[in-house]
Amino acid sequence: MSLLRQPILLLARSEAVKKLVSTMPVSSGIVTSYVPGEGTEAAVEATARLVDDGLTVTLDYLGEDTLDAAQADATVAAYLDVLQALSSRGLARNAEVSVKLSAIGQALPDGGHKIALDNARTICRAARNAGTTVTLDMEDHTTTDSTLQILAELRRDFPETGAVLQAYLHRTEDDCRRLAHEGSRVRLCKGAYNEPESVAFQDKLDVDKSYVRCMKVLLQGDGYPMLATHDPRMIAIGRSIASDTGRARGSYEFQMLYGIRPEEQKRLAGEGESMRVYIPYGLEWYGYLMRRLAERPQNLSFFVKSLISKK
Ligand SMILES: Cc1cc2nc3c(=O)[nH]c(=O)nc-3n(C[C@H](O)[C@H](O)[C@H](O)COP(=O)(O)OP(=O)(O)OC[C@H]3O[C@@H](n4cnc5c(N)ncnc54)[C@H](O)[C@@H]3O)c2cc1C
Repeated sequence: MSLLRQPILLLARSEAVKKLVSTMPVSSGIVTSYVPGEGTEAAVEATARLVDDGLTVTLDYLGEDTLDAAQADATVAAYLDVLQALSSRGLARNAEVSVKLSAIGQALPDGGHKIALDNARTICRAARNAGTTVTLDMEDHTTTDSTLQILAELRRDFPETGAVLQAYLHRTEDDCRRLAHEGSRVRLCKGAYNEPESVAFQDKLDVDKSYVRCMKVLLQGDGYPMLATHDPRMIAIGRSIASDTGRARGSYEFQMLYGIRPEEQKRLAGEGESMRVYIPYGLEWYGYLMRRLAERPQNLSFFVKSLISKK
């Protein structure tokens, strides 16, 4: 893990830094390179551009840390709006949605699990009516069991619902085995939260080794693996395992974040791989942007310059 990651994440919690960054219009270069905009229209326009380039998309409405039921309802409404827009623009076949359960009520003190399940059901129903699917994002390890339980309950009515597993958690190889069955869509990522040693590998090499073991389990299984990584080594190993296991193109896919390695996204698609781009959008772009900067401190000097020039 990067040495700068923790200080940046700490700085990100400072109200003064937040205020300064939040005064940047979303059209500022550094923000729009990771988040196309705050509303449905900007998200759908970005989707249309990527689909034109031969890519598929998953849209995430940024609304973490939901503190009350009204905020959760507003997030659900944003998903219904974007699903409607995807359907009417004829984009739903190539674009699904990703949902953070914390944004739709999972952390609420009274009945959060049930509220999140009911809200997720509403979004799954709208996605199905639009002709597309939902993938449940995975958050910090204290939510993993609740999220996988909600997945299991949703899959009774909406078996097309996907989940995310994080290779940095010790438990994940076993979770991959449990979810590598027919009809199961699993996105494998390395993991983006600061997790303790008791539950997660701390060393980058150990995380990478776990990612490879998990890819093997998923690609050898009967489900639909979604390999979410920008790491050239993981991508090369994933392609090699897929070929060794006789996986046909289109029976698995790669995923990357909007604005990260865009040329590589197009190159892989050009070589016949399925490539899906995760597009975050919405008013709550600040926390997302800070996590991306923490992962890639090289971008920090560009970020600071853009802050100064916008003042
Ligand atoms: C589609 C998608 C969905 C995700 N969903 C979740 C989720 O639900 N829960 C969760 O915890 N995390 C999620 N993540 C984040 C993920 O866990 C990682 O934090 C993030 O992807 C960074 O890990 P990495 O695999 O890209 O490789 P890293 O180990 O960060 O980087 C490895 C190598 O990849 C290349 N690389 C990485 N970033 C860049 C960059 N910005 N520019 C150029 N090259 C780069 C470099 O060569 C680098 O050395 C998601 C990621 C993706 C792509």
